[in-house]
Amino acid sequence: MELKDKVAIITGASSGIGERTALLFAKEGAQLVLTDIDTEKGEKLVESIKNEGGKAVFLKADVSLPEASEETVKLAIKTFGKLDIAVNNAGISGAAAPVGEYDPQEWDKVVRINLSGVFYGMRYQIPAMLENGGGSIINVASILGSVGFAYSAAYVAAKHGVLGLTKTAALEYSAKGIRVNSTGPAFIKTPMIQDLDKDVLEQVVAKHAIGRLGKADEVAQLHLWLASQRSSFATGAYYPIDGGILHNKLLQP
Ligand code: NAD
Repeated sequence: MELKDKVAIITGASSGIGERTALLFAKEGAQLVLTDIDTEKGEKLVESIKNEGGKAVFLKADVSLPEASEETVKLAIKTFGKLDIAVNNAGISGAAAPVGEYDPQEWDKVVRINLSGVFYGMRYQIPAMLENGGGSIINVASILGSVGFAYSAAYVAAKHGVLGLTKTAALEYSAKGIRVNSTGPAFIKTPMIQDLDKDVLEQVVAKHAIGRLGKADEVAQLHLWLASQRSSFATGAYYPIDGGILHNKLLQP
């Protein structure tokens, strides 16, 4: 029980990486405030956690709205009395287009969810964690938080922004007991990538040194490590979990 009596917020919890992180955290004893815009799947998840004896509540909250993040933190305090852990995970991939043709409205949408959403989350999570003497914040970026990717300018720029935000918050709050880190999944088998063209997917798989896509459960394990005291000296860092794709250039003959 690595997270016994810990209270955690997980955004984007209705699907994929957020869902598997929620299930793992519940198994490790955490009390959970799960948020998403998909209420049906979020409420089902809460039911399944409760059926296993876990503690969880669901709130419909759009991370691109600061008031929704404030409400999420208030719910954590009201329901469980404190906040120890936050996984700012909600995200979208956005449309594919080159920079010179990228729709400005789509840009705004992706940046509001993937970058501003992480800021709005931390903006309200940090004061609650300070009240509680500390905590651990995990911001889910991507391998595309450290390298470029053609036709994905908004996503790539937002995820690079998440790394900068993480480093800065870590400088400001680590000495006060709040550790802040970001994670960098490569291509993980979740609904986010289900619409990728089959040929493109095959090429993508081939670029992972490990020869397959990642699993949401594997990313959840990294989130558990960062949430737990086992990572007590880790802060301000970026943790790729990428099956070797970032080193692909070195691996190719
Ligand atoms: P997913 O689509 O399975 O889950 C994303 C969840 O976020 C969904 O439940 C969705 O409803 C929710 N969401 C979307 N917009 C929201 C909003 N405005 N407010 C609240 N919730 C919202 O995707 P996933 O693969 O589990 O992605 C989770 C995170 O991991 C994202 O930040 C994504 O960028 C990142 N990531 C995913 C991959 C991958 O290959 N799957 C790779 C790198 C990084």
